[in-house]
Amino acid sequence: MKRTKIVATIGPRSRDEETLAALIAAGVDVARVNISYGGHDDHASLAQCVRAAAATAGRTVALLLDTRGPKVRVGTLADPIPLSPGEEVVLGEGGIPLTHPQAVDGLASGVRILLADGMLELAVVGPVRGGVRCRVIRGGLLHGGKGVNIPGVALSLPALTPFDRESLARAGEMGFDCVALSFVQRPEELAEARRIVGQGLWVLAKVELAEAVRRMQEIVTASDGAMVARGDLGVEVDLYQVPLVQRRLVDLGNTQAKPVIVATQMLRSMVDAPVPTRAEVADVANAVWDGADAVMLSEETAVGNHPLAAVQAMAAAAQAAESGDVPIRVPGLESGLVGEVSAAIACAAGRVAAEVGAQAIVCATTSGWTARLVASHRPSVPVVATTPHRDVARRLGLVWGVLPREIAPARDEGDLIHSSLTAAREAGAVSPGDRVVFTAGLPFHKPGTTNLVRVLTVP
Ligand code: PEP
Repeated sequence: MKRTKIVATIGPRSRDEETLAALIAAGVDVARVNISYGGHDDHASLAQCVRAAAATAGRTVALLLDTRGPKVRVGTLADPIPLSPGEEVVLGEGGIPLTHPQAVDGLASGVRILLADGMLELAVVGPVRGGVRCRVIRGGLLHGGKGVNIPGVALSLPALTPFDRESLARAGEMGFDCVALSFVQRPEELAEARRIVGQGLWVLAKVELAEAVRRMQEIVTASDGAMVARGDLGVEVDLYQVPLVQRRLVDLGNTQAKPVIVATQMLRSMVDAPVPTRAEVADVANAVWDGADAVMLSEETAVGNHPLAAVQAMAAAAQAAESGDVPIRVPGLESGLVGEVSAAIACAAGRVAAEVGAQAIVCATTSGWTARLVASHRPSVPVVATTPHRDVARRLGLVWGVLPREIAPARDEGDLIHSSLTAAREAGAVSPGDRVVFTAGLPFHKPGTTNLVRVLTVP
């Protein structure tokens, strides 16, 4: 059974129900909708298609809404513009149009501006009315809609655009379980998003700006999880620092039992090719060994020619890495969590499971927190999380090693054990006669009360 979760971005090449059902059956745990494309109705209908396909595949799938954020882009161009090294061009009014022209206001001479994910590079010469004059350093053909990055310059725009705010306000009703905030710079922006989405949904931080890297600890603390958004990160900070940021962010998430997604270009060649490169397979394996909860596919599943093969390759790469003898990094919980009863129970559950040769750890959980704590130790056996709350079960789809199962509300302890073990059996995690470690909280239905560990035999 694969332990690392797969996030797949849904787009034109994967949005029909049949393809979605095949992707889910091949191992997709989280469907990501990037709201940079389309309107609210498209996003709602995509969410509905995912729900229908998950029901067809008989799997629990979490839905992740990824915000637009104040991404500066080249505006619409009638034709691509060839840019030659040494020539001067204007960015902004009267020149190459920008979606947020104010982003180049006041830029000092010499500042680097990267276009199209860094493929083209400009240097600011000086201000002009409504824009800046720049010299082309690295030339090429510039297409409309390409990204514009100004590394090292703090973004003066808020993380949430008006469109994002509207989408966040509707995210719950559209059926989303989590939202990921693009271009976060400050913890307050996550708090603001949480106020807008309301209770329940997870708010994840996409770490892709230098300022977010600088304030990573506070940002992880203010979030429910994070994403190493390597696409923009690779142009906003020194490209060669990306693996270090990845390692630090994954560690930080794990110390707080918050899921971390490693994203972008993981199997990029599979947009065109039916098999991944060796380097891509190694990238997925290294993310697994770093301790990532999830690995993500972007254009591979959204617009690529081989969406199903990409999911299959990612599942195979993750599973191979997990089944070798390379240990997964476990940094341990941060000191603020050590001493919490549920954290102690979670740690004990992993140890007991290893000592008694249990086949699974079964966590009866109200909020999902105990299952996350158990998973943060990366135990060698599956963590079956049983909960009466469908939304909790769905969100746990993002957490490494957790098999979420919705169960009916229990009448008493015996009923809870019976339905949890039945769910673990139905999930294929255990068979009759297997030993399991069971955790729960008494009194019932009160989040944060996990205080019980028992070793049981599956009937
Ligand atoms: C990224 O930049 O790596 C990312 C995941 O964000 P987006 O796909 O929205 O650019």
